[in-house]
Amino acid sequence: MRFDTVIIGGGLAGLLCGIRLSENGQRCAIVSRGQSALGFSSGSLDLLSHLPDGQPVRDLNSAIALLAQHHPAHPYALLGAERVRHYAQQTQTLLADCGLALQGDVDTPHLRVTPLGSFRRAWLSPAEVPLKPDVSQRTGVIGISGFPDFQPQLAAASLRKRGIDAHAEEIELPVLDTLRDNPSEFRAVNIARHLDAPEHFAALYDALHPLSQQYDVLYLPACFGLTDSSVFTQLNQQLACPLHLLPTLPPSVPGMRMQFLLQQRFIHSGGSWMPGDEVLHADIQNDRVTQLWTRKHEDIPLRARHVVLASGSFFSNGLIADRDRVREAVFDLDVLQCDKRSDWYRDDIFETQPWQQFGVQTDAQLHALRQGKAINNLYVVGSVLGGFDAIAQGCGGGVCAVTALHAAQQIAAQGGEQ
Ligand SMILES: Cc1cc2nc3c(=O)[nH]c(=O)nc-3n(C[C@H](O)[C@H](O)[C@H](O)COP(=O)(O)OP(=O)(O)OC[C@H]3O[C@@H](n4cnc5c(N)ncnc54)[C@H](O)[C@@H]3O)c2cc1C
Repeated sequence: MRFDTVIIGGGLAGLLCGIRLSENGQRCAIVSRGQSALGFSSGSLDLLSHLPDGQPVRDLNSAIALLAQHHPAHPYALLGAERVRHYAQQTQTLLADCGLALQGDVDTPHLRVTPLGSFRRAWLSPAEVPLKPDVSQRTGVIGISGFPDFQPQLAAASLRKRGIDAHAEEIELPVLDTLRDNPSEFRAVNIARHLDAPEHFAALYDALHPLSQQYDVLYLPACFGLTDSSVFTQLNQQLACPLHLLPTLPPSVPGMRMQFLLQQRFIHSGGSWMPGDEVLHADIQNDRVTQLWTRKHEDIPLRARHVVLASGSFFSNGLIADRDRVREAVFDLDVLQCDKRSDWYRDDIFETQPWQQFGVQTDAQLHALRQGKAINNLYVVGSVLGGFDAIAQGCGGGVCAVTALHAAQQIAAQGGEQ
C-alpha cells in the first residue's frame, strides 16, 4: 500500500500532523495501536510554564532563548522561538477549525481551576473549564452522588484556602441508577453517554436549577459533552447562574472529545485512519525508510515517501525501558538517556525525574537519528522526543503541537510524489 506519508501513532501529535498534511492534499495514513494520552489528559494544553530550573516563564521568547543556551536538546531550542510561536498560533486555528472551543492564547497564558481546587497555568483550555475566579463570587462545587472520581469537599476546601467563597454540594441523579449497580462503571465517560442523551436533559437541569439560584457560579465534574458542547451550552442558557466543568480523573471527557474531533477531521479531510494496528518494524536503506510492516497487514508493507514517528512516550510504549537502556520501539533510534540506571530517577518522587526527559534524538529538522546519522525521510514528533519534561516544565501539549506542525510543514514543502 502506497501513501505520501505514513504516521505511526494517532495521539495529539500524530493527528495534528496528519490533518495538516491531508488538508494539503497528501495521501496520508495514521496507524495507531491503542488509546492515546488524550483520553487521560485534562483537555487543557500547556505551552511552557516553567524553565528546567523551576523559574516560571513570563516571556516565551526569552524563555526559549535560555533553553537554546542551556538545554539545546529541548525541542523548542531546536526549533527556535519564532517557529514555536508561529506553530502554536497555527495550532489554535487548526483546533478551532476542528470544532474545539478553546480559551487561551500563546501570549496570554491563563490559570485554570483543577479538580483539586488549585490553579494551574495553561495555554489552551476547553471553554467550559473555569479560570481563576473572582474571590467575591459565591461558588457551588457540585458532586454527583456516588461518583468517586470527583470530590467536591476537597475541591471546595482547597478553593477556600485560596480565598474563594466555595461550598460543596451534591446532586442525586436517579437517571444514572443503572450505572450505580456496578461502581467500576460509574465513570465520567459512561455517565456522559447517559447525560448527553436529550431525554435526560430535564433531569440534569432540574437537579442543578435550585443550586443555580443560590450561587453566583457552579462547578460540576465534566460528565457530559463526549462529542460536542450542546448540553453545556443549553444548561448555561437556562440556569440562573453560569456553570463551569472540571475535568475528572481519567478517563476524561474533555480529552476524549479532543481525540474524537481530531480523528473526525483527519478522516473527513481524506486521511486513512488505521486503528488497532501497529507498526512492528521497518526496512531502512540508504538512510531512508523504505517500508513499514504492521501486525494486521502482515506481508503487505506500507510504503511512503515520508514517515512520521508519533508513537508517544513510555505511556504509549513508544519508548521501552529495558534493564540497562531505554530504547525506541520501532526503529531503535538514538535515545537521549543517562547511562547508569541509578541515574534514571531520584528517590524523592516529588523531585523532577531525569527519565521524564528521555526520548528520541533528532536534528533541527526533526529527522530521526540512528547511530548518529539522520534518517532523511523519518520525522519524529510529540512526546516520543527527548530533551523536555512535560510535567515539570508544563510543555507537553505544546511540544506535541509545534513539532507536529513543523514536520508537516517540511513534508508539505517537499511535495508528495512517490
Ligand atoms: C496521562 C497523561 C496525561 C497528560 N496530560 C496532559 C495535559 O493535561 N496537558 C498537556 O499539555 N499535556 C499532557 N500530557 C503530556 C502528553 O504527553 C501530551 O499532551 C500528548 O497528549 C501526547 O501526545 P502524543 O501524540 O505524543 O502521544 P500519545 O498520546 O501517547 O499517542 C501515541 C499513540 O501512538 C500509538 N503507538 C505507539 N506505538 C505504536 C506503533 N508501533 N504502531 C502504531 N501505533 C503506535 C499509541 O497506541 C498511541 O495511541 C499528558 C501525558 C500523559 C501520559
